[in-house]
Amino acid sequence: MKFSRIVITAVAFVLLLSFSAHAEKVRWKLAMTWGPTLSPFTDAVEGMAEMVNEMSGGEFVIRIDAANKHKSPFGVLDMVKLGQYDMAHSASYYWKGKDIALLPLTTMPFGMTAPEQYAWFYHGGGMELMQEAYAPHNVYSFPGGNTGNQMGGWFRKEINSLDDLKGLKMRIPGFAGEVLSELGLAVTNIAPGELYTSLERGTIDALEWVGPGMDIKMGFHKIAPYYYTGWHEPATELQFIVNKKEYDKLSDKNRAILTNAMKLASYNMYIKNYHMSADAWSKISTEYPHIKIMTFPDTVIAAMKESNEKLLAEKSKDSPMLKKILASQHKYLEKSREWTKMSDYYYLQDNIEE
Ligand code: CA
Repeated sequence: MKFSRIVITAVAFVLLLSFSAHAEKVRWKLAMTWGPTLSPFTDAVEGMAEMVNEMSGGEFVIRIDAANKHKSPFGVLDMVKLGQYDMAHSASYYWKGKDIALLPLTTMPFGMTAPEQYAWFYHGGGMELMQEAYAPHNVYSFPGGNTGNQMGGWFRKEINSLDDLKGLKMRIPGFAGEVLSELGLAVTNIAPGELYTSLERGTIDALEWVGPGMDIKMGFHKIAPYYYTGWHEPATELQFIVNKKEYDKLSDKNRAILTNAMKLASYNMYIKNYHMSADAWSKISTEYPHIKIMTFPDTVIAAMKESNEKLLAEKSKDSPMLKKILASQHKYLEKSREWTKMSDYYYLQDNIEE
């Protein structure tokens, strides 16, 4: 009798121990805007989840659902906001129709380059402004990987003047879309998984995606061989979105693991995309000789700049938060660009052979 009581007590104690260990384990779900194989965007997500798992000794596990699973590439902010997912990976400028203040947290036409923007995020007040902008949406947002300077897009025909742009149907998100609408284009955003078919079927005449590392794999050059250099997305930062309640519930240790894993995964994506684009670019002239590398004429760039400035002033009137973010970015750009000029710009001037 006495022995069996000891056994029962011991069993109960072991059960309690295993239950409390189980209760400490954190299992999260993450929804991506992207399909399952869209490297290097998906690398940022998988790399982050792997690091979280390893650093936590398997106590913090994040399951990843790609767009083909959850079927809502542009619904991920709402899903995290409502707690259907704990986390997402996407881009702030996709939410411009929902909240215009979130738009400049990705990149801005004629704005900062990636090193300038990372300095703004981490040392120029950008992170604080990002949390302030996302607070009404019940989520936190963190940098999620940068593409660096993007290419201006794929066109079926040469653009020699502003008239050549008028009436073109183009997929281009973010503030650049607003700028081009002003110049007479019919602008739309299309989920990444539908880009090729939209161009092939003529739903759109032109599109921009990222840069050679990601674009050439998509096959756009087979339909629209004019490939223009960029003006519109000099430093596209993707984002991790995290449900506020779930993030606040994490232990200090798990929160440190998550934030560091997100930061490192973002940097890893920046490096990988740089490599992928440099590698693809080095093969363009030999493997895809029919691709025509173009720059927009000066008159077109000047009109884009003018429209950009006008719209920045207009949109700022509608949203005090947008105004605050743009003012902070503008001030930081003025400061950082002087250093970029003195360092990289003068260095490259002496070391690039045209
Ligand atoms: Ca883009």
